[in-house]
Amino acid sequence: MQGLPDKQSVKKLHVLITSRMFSASRNKKDDLFKYKLACEELSKFINEVNFESKIAKKSVELRENGNDYFKKNELDKAFEMYTMSMAYAPTKSVELSMAYANRSAVLFKANWFADCLVDIEHALELDYPENLKAKLFLRKANCLQAICPKRRGPINEALDETRQWMKKMDKKNQLAIEQLLKKQKTTKTTTEKTVCYKFDADVVPEKLKSENPALPGLSSAVELQYSKKYGRHLIATRDIKPSEVLAVQEPYINIVKQDLRYKYCWHCVKQTWSNIPCDDCAEVIYCSASCRDKAKLAYHDVECYVLSRILASGIISNFIFPLRIAIKALKEANNSFDILEQNRLKVDAEKDPLTKGFIDGKFDPQKFSSVYSLSHNPHTDKNFEILCLAGSSITAYFLAKKIPAFEKSLKDEKLLKTDDKFISLIGFIDKIVSITRNNLLQVQAPDKYEDIKDTSSAVVIPFSFMNHSCIKMVTFKRQSEKLVLTAVCPIEKGEQIFDNYMSQFFIHTKKQRVEMLSHSNFICDCEACIKDWPTYTDSLNPFLVNTLKPDLREVFHLIMNSTFVMYETVCKNNEIMLFKKEINKVAKVVENYYSLFGANSSDSVTALKLLMMAVFMSQRHFVHLK
Ligand SMILES: [Zn+2]
Ligand SMILES: [Zn+2]
Ligand SMILES: [Zn+2]
Repeated sequence: MQGLPDKQSVKKLHVLITSRMFSASRNKKDDLFKYKLACEELSKFINEVNFESKIAKKSVELRENGNDYFKKNELDKAFEMYTMSMAYAPTKSVELSMAYANRSAVLFKANWFADCLVDIEHALELDYPENLKAKLFLRKANCLQAICPKRRGPINEALDETRQWMKKMDKKNQLAIEQLLKKQKTTKTTTEKTVCYKFDADVVPEKLKSENPALPGLSSAVELQYSKKYGRHLIATRDIKPSEVLAVQEPYINIVKQDLRYKYCWHCVKQTWSNIPCDDCAEVIYCSASCRDKAKLAYHDVECYVLSRILASGIISNFIFPLRIAIKALKEANNSFDILEQNRLKVDAEKDPLTKGFIDGKFDPQKFSSVYSLSHNPHTDKNFEILCLAGSSITAYFLAKKIPAFEKSLKDEKLLKTDDKFISLIGFIDKIVSITRNNLLQVQAPDKYEDIKDTSSAVVIPFSFMNHSCIKMVTFKRQSEKLVLTAVCPIEKGEQIFDNYMSQFFIHTKKQRVEMLSHSNFICDCEACIKDWPTYTDSLNPFLVNTLKPDLREVFHLIMNSTFVMYETVCKNNEIMLFKKEINKVAKVVENYYSLFGANSSDSVTALKLLMMAVFMSQRHFVHLK
């Protein structure tokens, strides 16, 4: 018998299901048939063997990689390696203390002194090697000196500790520390570089002027309607001005991008420095013990076990989203799979497409019934469908291990194929895979060096009601734990509010847009597509700024200057600029050009782009340790 997880599991299951799906007679290919088939194949080889999350050897390797980057002064990379080293270090181990200590050196070098102090304390709380402690206490003294040179008490205490622990060092290192101690005495003031204390600034989310009572978190300027052509969609109940806030929503799920898992808190999805690892898995980190505890209560108690195993079995990371939704749904159903199934049937049976998923006349964006009522398209690509099926089966298997109802059939994997409940669980996961595929939003942050950084993926239920148009009408930004939807052009009463999925008329030609949208089988009939509007690729070209109309040039310079100031000073002041003045000013310019020329004009496009830029800047940005 083959063990799991190994990187080939998904591939193997994929091959097995493929051959059987294609050889089965056509009329048999309904959903139940395919879930049963997947279950049969899965039960043939699935069996968990010795899975270890924390691996001391890997932690040491990662720390050594970190040391190499640190020597090359590549602080961002060194930081990430040390954080991963922490994540892989066994709980309360020496490796963990070493990773904290080495990371504190990165933070010290980057002048992030308050975070550096937190890492030093974490290292000292653990079993940090005695012959290295003097170095750590000296770093502590230097940190305290940088933050507040006048408070001599704590600085002298740290220096005393340094002298004490020096005795545990060998002669060569003792001499080195003595040299540094002498230097410490002579530097009375901080270095000339910017001192960054602890960066945890965030923006208080904007507020709605008045809320739609049936759609919490949506403005009363917006209502939900249904038509055969558009499905559920949003309509303006009155005229809306550019820069007006249309929704302030907490996502149902918001999950850190794979490549930022060791830079962002898994729970609050904020960039974090003196962070701590999960006690049980090596996959996630938290900004604080408070976030770790909240995550555990809300989902990670179950997720922790499943996540590391599905990732190890070669599943594409997209399964993290349906997994989180499934766990939240189960918790809402008091961990009872039967209640969850009843909730599901109830939504499936609802006849009115407009109020599907509503509870007591309200559409609650934090309820599973709301997520479950979202639209999803059947798979069009057979190969992808089977890959999803393989992934769903393996995810279902590990999730079932955490649900009491499956205890009996999991005792012998061969029994799985006769367990109707387990087959339903596969079907359930497969369905939320399609829902997330249709409804996942990419959340981005401003980035000084890369302009835009993809930070997380979220399901924000009412945002899913916006259909695509190539003419941009809204944009959203992240403020604290909320996503804020803002109008970027005037919208008339009765108009449908469209979102824009990648293809925009002013950037892409009609031919390009048709090609881009064909991947989702979508034929756009927005005005730009029907009348074949021209592109405006040169609008806001930085080399042509001097050719702009005076009002556009003025707001361009205003936004550019503010952006520069924000990136340069934010770490120093631990605050984020709100761009209020900039947004108000450019919104007026947008309004003016739209009333003169409509959306199809170079000046309107320039104004719209500037407004989008100002709105985008008014959120927490991605910070580099450079
Ligand atoms: Zn957090
Ligand atoms: Zn974990
Ligand atoms: Zn279009």
